[in-house]
Amino acid sequence: MLGPVILAASRSDKMRRLVSAAPGTKQVVARFIAGETVDDVVPIVSELSGRGLEVTLDVVGEDITTVEQSYAARDAYLELIGRLKELGLGERAEMSVKLSMFGQSLENGHELALANVRPVVAAAAEIGTTVTLDAEDHTTLDSMFAIHEELRKDFPQTGCVIQAYLFRTEDDARRLAANGSRVRIVKGAYKEPASVAIQDKPEIDKAYVRIMKILMDGEGYPMIGSHDPRLISIGQELARRAGRKLDEYEFQMLYGIRSEEQNRLAAEGHRMRVYTAYGTDWYGYFMRRLAEKPANLLFFVRSILTK
Ligand code: FAD
Repeated sequence: MLGPVILAASRSDKMRRLVSAAPGTKQVVARFIAGETVDDVVPIVSELSGRGLEVTLDVVGEDITTVEQSYAARDAYLELIGRLKELGLGERAEMSVKLSMFGQSLENGHELALANVRPVVAAAAEIGTTVTLDAEDHTTLDSMFAIHEELRKDFPQTGCVIQAYLFRTEDDARRLAANGSRVRIVKGAYKEPASVAIQDKPEIDKAYVRIMKILMDGEGYPMIGSHDPRLISIGQELARRAGRKLDEYEFQMLYGIRSEEQNRLAAEGHRMRVYTAYGTDWYGYFMRRLAEKPANLLFFVRSILTK
């Protein structure tokens, strides 16, 4: 019940100001956000890498309102990639980007987002890594998939995300599995209407399993983005049945969530990638993490009350 309310709040500027100013917020945010700057995140990449984990880095930010902000987003990723290159960490860390941060919702947003993301994808390729396009709300997805297809002409390793809760996703999965794409499958984190998305959690899980099977049986590289132990073990079984080797798919989880499980999967020889978000515009990302687990909200409220 609380999830949709928190997701609605994630789009409210008034709530953004309230939450950002609340005492204790910083401490809770730090559980999910690895820091504010490249300097904060680099030691974390080294530490995760030392534990045998791979990383995907997300400079937080979305729903920008000016073209200048979209250039700043591009530049933030280019700065990050430059630092990874200097430190020789390129092959351990890929990037995750939200096209809304690259200007997708502004005037001529599709072209603007493509023009901004292309140099980031090219710079990532130069250091031996790649970029995955995150999935945002359903109204943005046709543009995201078209940009993905365009980028793949020059950079076939470019990945994208599909969301199990959307009715359209099984068709998207079939297309992407047939064309050999890197695809992250997730349950979906946005507030979506019943006209486009499954609302019942067990039904979303069933769709997730069907989609994993399509991906595992296909030609591409499946990335299982979930903390759900049942889906992870079904993913392992589907990979085994599809005859995939351990380096022909991977698991992904979010920084700060189920770290023991991340270590366990890596120790078993799985490729385990930690989605590590950093930056100052953390509000939308943070609110989606609260919406996913009501206990996080309780922890947040308690930390405010005890300040
Ligand atoms: P759940 O059933 O939600 O969780 C299973 C268990 O994991 C819970 O019982 C709990 O123990 C733990 N858990 C899950 N979430 C939390 C949390 N926030 N805090 C504490 N414990 C938690 N969504 C998109 O819409 N677009 C994207 O591009 C996208 N990228 C993602 C990338 C990665 C690597 C991951 C892991 C998720 C991403 N998501 C994205 C979010 C996703 O859609 C889900 O909202 C999120 O993963 C929770 O679903 P779950 O599969 O972990 O299962």
